[in-house]
Parts: sequence; C-alpha cells; structure tokens
Amino acid sequence: MTMSNTTIPLTLSPVRPQITIPEDLLRPAADGSRTLADTYGRVARDLRVSLTDRCNLRCTYCMPAEGLDWLPKDKVLTDEEITRLITLGVEKLGIRQVRFTGGEPLMRRSLEKIIAHTKSLKTDEGQAPQTAITTNGLGLAKRAQKLADAGLDRVNISLDTIDKKAYAKLTRRDRLDDVIDAIETSLEVGLQPVKINAVIMPGFNDQDIVKLARFCLEKGTQLRFIEQMPLGPPSQWDRSEMVTAEDILDELRTQFELTPVDKPRGSSPAALWKADDGHGLRGEIGVIASVTHSFCGDCDRTRLTADGAIRNCLFASADQEFSVRDKLRDGSSDDEIATVWAAAMWAKLPGHAINDPGFLQPDRPMAAIGG
Ligand code: SAM
Ligand code: SF4
Repeated sequence: MTMSNTTIPLTLSPVRPQITIPEDLLRPAADGSRTLADTYGRVARDLRVSLTDRCNLRCTYCMPAEGLDWLPKDKVLTDEEITRLITLGVEKLGIRQVRFTGGEPLMRRSLEKIIAHTKSLKTDEGQAPQTAITTNGLGLAKRAQKLADAGLDRVNISLDTIDKKAYAKLTRRDRLDDVIDAIETSLEVGLQPVKINAVIMPGFNDQDIVKLARFCLEKGTQLRFIEQMPLGPPSQWDRSEMVTAEDILDELRTQFELTPVDKPRGSSPAALWKADDGHGLRGEIGVIASVTHSFCGDCDRTRLTADGAIRNCLFASADQEFSVRDKLRDGSSDDEIATVWAAAMWAKLPGHAINDPGFLQPDRPMAAIGG
C-alpha cells in the first residue's frame, strides 16, 4: 500500500501554520487509537508533563536569581485540561509512563489528584501507566505518603551536593536538610527506586562528586549524574568549561572501581556502572552524557508544557512547539487534538545538535519546558 502525504493547516504556532504528514497518521484505528511515531522510527511512550514553571529554588544552571517571568495563571492549563490530555495520551496515543515535572511539581497543590486520575487509566497493554515525579524535594517529606497513596510509583529527587554551603550557593537557598528528609521519607514510604539527579557545575560542586556518590550508595538510592545542558541562563554554560561524563567518571575512579553494567539501556539515557569502593560499599551509579554522547536515537519522550504546548524534544525551537491550549478551550474534539499531537511528534528532528557550531539554545528555559 502506498502512503500518500497531506499538507494540513493546523495553526499550531505562529511560525508553523501547517505541516505535511502521511495521511495514515491522520486516520486513527477503528478504536480511535494512533501511534506517536516520527520519521526516524521512534515511538513516544513516555510523557513528561510540566505542572508549573514556578519554583522555590533558583538553581544556577536552571534559573537566574530573580526567577523567570512566570506564566500568567490563565495561560496555565487547569487540572481538567491536564487530565483530559493525559487521558488522551494514555488511552489513545500509546503513552505508558507519565512523569510530572516543572518548575517544581510539588508547587501544584492538586498533584495527588492528577496522579490518582493518571493511575486510574489503562494503557494499550491493559495496565495502569507508570507514574513518577522529578522534584527538588522541598516539602516532599510531608506529602510522600499521600503521593504514594494516590498511586505515585517513583521519585527522582534533585540533589547536586551534600555540602551545605555548596548546596546553598548552587540553589541560592539553604534547604539541604529538607532534601535529605525527602529522600529518607521517600524510601520509607516505598517510592522506590529513589533516584537522585545531580548536575555538576564547575566551581560549584565538582569537588563533591565522590562525597555525593558515597551518600547515595549508603542510603540505597540510585544516583544519576547529568551533564549540564545549555538550558538555563546562557552565561552559566560554557561548552569548553563544562564537567563532562568522562570527568565525572575519572573523579569517581579515584575512590571506586567502576564496571559497566551489562544490560541493554533501551530508551534510558543513563549509562550504568557498578561501583565498589573495596571496603564494602557497592551499588550502581548512572551517568547521563546528554551533551557529549547524545542518546536522541532511542528517545521515546513527548512533552507537555504547563501552558499547553506539545514539544517533541527538550531542545525544540519555537517552530517545533505545538500549542493545544486554544484547542482545549475552543471546543475541539479529542480526535482533533490527537491529530495535532501526532503531527507534533511526526516533526521530531533526529537529535539536539548541541555540538553543532550553529546550535541555538531553545527560547524557553528548562523550568518552562519541564525537565
Ligand atoms: N524542580 C524539579 C527538580 O529540580 O527536580 C523538576 C524540574 S528540573 C528542570 C528537572 C531536572 O532538570 C532536575 O533534575 C535538574 O537538575 C535538571 N536540570 C535543570 N537544568 C538543567 C541543565 N541546565 N542541565 C542539565 N540538567 C538540568
Ligand atoms: Fe527549580 Fe528544578 Fe530548576 Fe532547580 S532545577 S531551579 S529546583 S526547576
């Protein structure tokens, strides 16, 4: 069967008023389902939902000290709009995992309600979707049990150093104790595995890599070092100064024997290592080389921003952003919205091109996209 192409006006964004996609993509199956496929053979299964662009920290690699120009309230999706899109994603578009992020997702009071709704859905495999949050941990200790009761499966907690002074300098807030509390409570209530995300910034926490690794292994959490990406204030990222995955591994090797974990990575961005300090401390550590070894070829993510734009990549530019907010508000059907979503993913580029000389940082900062 030959596949014909159609150019359809979608008025997706001022810069991309139309897109050419195969007709098949426009026609759902008899049960209304479609696949979020792209032209490179990737299929999106993992939905990242940004619940707010606001945050109670000011991490240097993410935001300026004064914060961002926060989205006005009426531009942010309501709970009903978010749950409608998640339902569509899970029930009709093949989404199997939903991760809530931001900004700081705990700043959304209805987080438990949104998670409970997500967990009540069924994926194309007949199970409830996996649910996770990425959080800075502030206030998590108090809510961890309620979140687990609502159906939250896992947490990623961001912690870049366990040195109190370095933490306060890096996040511009003195809240290290709250984060440690959050980690301990998450473990207690069974939000497992608890993963720790750590971004290493030259001059801020590059001295603390081994200490952080020891802390995480002792607690029984899974540490993931993430290379700093050009997604925050431009003055804070310099390709020639950044701490690379190799630098991090070299530092870890001063105290640990590292052996690669021999299992397929799938769509996971982390390269995993077995770490052993030779004195009984053992465990796994991951390193996400987002800049130096991109993993775009296996990406299975689709993103929804707090103001209702579908993004096919963290690094998508304005013409790769597809707002569905107006469609949600003008009475469009689920099928019309699904068409936009499918078209947005069809337009996904092969990779982020950070290392190309012509690379342009996305117009939105990380907190406004949803990390
Ligand atoms: N506020 C939550 C948190 O910090 O976990 C969720 C949002 S945050 C944008 C999601 C993740 O992105 C965090 O783990 C954070 O460390 C990471 N992140 C933020 N800016 C980054 C950057 N420029 N490069 C790499 N990772 C970054
Ligand atoms: Fe806030 Fe997370 Fe950005 Fe830090 S990384 S400023 S906690 S959104």
